[in-house]
Amino acid sequence: MFEGITKSLGEALKKLKGRGRLTAENVKDGLREVRRAFLEADVNFNVASDFIARVEAKSLGQDVLAKVDPSEQIVKNVYEELVALMGPVDHKIPQRSDRPVVLMLCGLQGSGKTTTAAKLALTLKGQNRKPMLAAADLQRPGAVEQLKTLGEQIGVPVYSEATNPVDVCRNAVAQAKRTLCDIVILDTAGRLQIDADLMAELQRIDKLVKPDECYLVVDAMIGQEAANVAKAFNDALELNACILTKLDGDARGGAALSIKGVTGVPIKFVGMGEKVDKLEDFVPERMAGRILGQGDMMGIVEKIASIQQEMSQEELQRQQEAIQKGNFTLDDFRKQFEQIAKMGMKDMISRMPGMSEMIPAGEDPEVALKRVQGMIDSMTKKEKADPDIIDTPRRRRIAKGAGVEPHEVNQFLKQFAQVRVLMKQMASMSLWQRLKMVTG
Ligand code: GDP
Ligand code: MG
Repeated sequence: MFEGITKSLGEALKKLKGRGRLTAENVKDGLREVRRAFLEADVNFNVASDFIARVEAKSLGQDVLAKVDPSEQIVKNVYEELVALMGPVDHKIPQRSDRPVVLMLCGLQGSGKTTTAAKLALTLKGQNRKPMLAAADLQRPGAVEQLKTLGEQIGVPVYSEATNPVDVCRNAVAQAKRTLCDIVILDTAGRLQIDADLMAELQRIDKLVKPDECYLVVDAMIGQEAANVAKAFNDALELNACILTKLDGDARGGAALSIKGVTGVPIKFVGMGEKVDKLEDFVPERMAGRILGQGDMMGIVEKIASIQQEMSQEELQRQQEAIQKGNFTLDDFRKQFEQIAKMGMKDMISRMPGMSEMIPAGEDPEVALKRVQGMIDSMTKKEKADPDIIDTPRRRRIAKGAGVEPHEVNQFLKQFAQVRVLMKQMASMSLWQRLKMVTG
């Protein structure tokens, strides 16, 4: 599915290998092929362009580890950006105790809704839950029968009545409650194309039945058009996730790579065949691994990760010294919270000096962290050493590389200036005083 991209990346890597320093020109040159391969794989144009811009900005602003060829560092950057492009994904299905959870599946005709409803029910059964299927497609001849057959096959009750979709869904939930089912999957009707009647019907169900989550089932074979379909459904229904079907076919990968970038909606599961047991979690890391090929390139990613691991101990020591000397740089700042994140101490992040101000109320610290990281990564070495030189054009470039607004870069730099002052003050404190300050 991703052969073209894998091959172009391999070639770009060969071109850049042994060049020593990466320059703006040779990075651009190397990534040009990758961009072309993205477009050939039917990735959305804007998604491909933004992706390349991010890898480019990151690669130029980076201090390359001594033991790593700069071209290899690009592979690692591509990997990380691929993962970020498709993720993060939460595979959990909600639970609640007051009433059955309601999952609504929607999508175009033939995308695989009915099949996926059965697959999901079987998955949930395997998690010791008690699913029920609701036959809310009263349009397609034979749709109710198809769902009933599947239900029988997997041993899951199917609710149906010959009324209207809203009543089917509503009564299915009531029936589920009576029969102690804890989750209802609504198999709704589709159309050949996006159409106003269909959207109105789905919105009616959404409003009156209030599903806990709404998933779009979309066919990978339609390539980047999947992202347009997802956008239309998301505008009407606020999707929680997409389920990408027919990934076992010869789809080119455009759908998998475009959907999240275009809509912000992640792919949660993938359909890998017609049979009811062919539903898998969508794992961005695994997908990115496939794109880089199982061979050489993933080896590079792993190698760099392990060097970074090794270095983190030495790094901690060095940072400690830098703080004591009072010359705490943006790089040190980035490394510091990266390490904290690596140790899985999510709560600590918001308590780090200067970090709490950078996390808007209610935002996940990890998301805020990613944003700050993105901004620092998009700066050149010079800018990191001397943030004062960051003027409007530089600010714009950094914002573009990090996928944020220029004013956010501005705000971050202001906050960092304060962190620096704080760090200087901390340097004169005892270790005990400092610890107390961080842990509150
Ligand atoms: P619906 O109209 O959205 O309900 O779509 P269906 O569930 O009826 O599926 C349409 C066709 O796609 C059927 O022939 C399914 O067997 C097939 N299908 C669904 N999911 C997959 C999948 O993941 N892989 C393959 N190869 N076929 C699938
Ligand atoms: Mg159907």
